[in-house]
Amino acid sequence: MAKRVSVLGSTGSIGRRVLNVVATLGEEVEVVGLSARHNARLLLEQARAFRPAAVGIADDRQSFVLKPLAAEGVDVCAGEDAAEAMATLPRVDLVFVALAGFAGLAPTLAALGAGKDVALANKESLVTGGKLVRNAQRAAAARIFPVDSEHAALGQCLDVCQPGGVRRLILTASGGPFLGKRREEVANATPEQAMAHPVWDMGAKISVDSATLMNKGLEVIEAYWLFDMPWDRIDVLIHPQSVVHSLVELADGSFLAQLATADMRLPIQYALTYPERRELRFPAARLELASIGRLDFARPDADQFPCFGLALAAGRAGGLKPAVMNAADEVAVEKFLASEIPFGALAGVIEATLADAPDGEIGGYDDVVRADRWARRRAAEAAAEVASRTRLGGR
Ligand code: MG
Repeated sequence: MAKRVSVLGSTGSIGRRVLNVVATLGEEVEVVGLSARHNARLLLEQARAFRPAAVGIADDRQSFVLKPLAAEGVDVCAGEDAAEAMATLPRVDLVFVALAGFAGLAPTLAALGAGKDVALANKESLVTGGKLVRNAQRAAAARIFPVDSEHAALGQCLDVCQPGGVRRLILTASGGPFLGKRREEVANATPEQAMAHPVWDMGAKISVDSATLMNKGLEVIEAYWLFDMPWDRIDVLIHPQSVVHSLVELADGSFLAQLATADMRLPIQYALTYPERRELRFPAARLELASIGRLDFARPDADQFPCFGLALAAGRAGGLKPAVMNAADEVAVEKFLASEIPFGALAGVIEATLADAPDGEIGGYDDVVRADRWARRRAAEAAAEVASRTRLGGR
């Protein structure tokens, strides 16, 4: 029987790749729902190609574009809850959460609450509300398939390990475009430079997060929740070739690693066909180790990447701190991409926000939303202070 999927964030960088892979799997996968934030034209195109039962658009000013679909028998849902509606469609088995940022938390919880398995390409939902996501997953006995190359790698390694036989998880990091440069050298780097990732082709936000190594800090928190591993047993190694996607150190000192080309379609396909492995039906480069020649590993330089340390500290502090840190990062990156603050100010905005953040535990989803909103306001103030000092702002 076909696996019936809903793809949230189908017009984004990961969502488009999910649909590319789905198209090669033929009858095996049926697309039941699609949702997007505001790219209604591409959503319309995707709906015509994949014939889902329903589509959702978060920005209801764009919903007029989708009007013709109603006459074609497709349910069209518009408004803030569109992704959640697509996450809970009764016929869906697997929900692909491919939207970016904090917006991923609510639909992830909705999908798990409705008993769906989740292919999770949204790390922010675990960073901000990991406790809620884990509780919802356990209550529903649902599966989460990580669609983040490192966590997909760890999941594949852990699948063949005895529980209790694992000493340490080691996430690899490419180091991004500024690896080896001093902080002062990149303080005024442009958005284009920060987004020019040497290995991965990704969306704007995650590309900037990779340049600051914030992305790896978020991924440590993601691993903590996904794999129930204590903080001091999750490590990070810089590995510029991005061939080894992550490693597991076992009790006897042996290591297991997963190696592959840097192509997100691999973990996407694996989430869709799990536990089976299929030959790829799309053109993809084969991993040729002899032509790569060498694999390098190094410890991350805390001084070069202050955002990495901020993320780890917030993760360890727990409670609402990771949600505050995440919101501050989303705001800081947005301001940087709009050329309102320099690259070198990203860490300062996050640090200033965290310094003022009240302590608090996560009682429920509303607590996380409040922390997120508070942090966005505080981070915007911190960014405005930076902008007025550096006179980069002034719009
Ligand atoms: Mg990753």
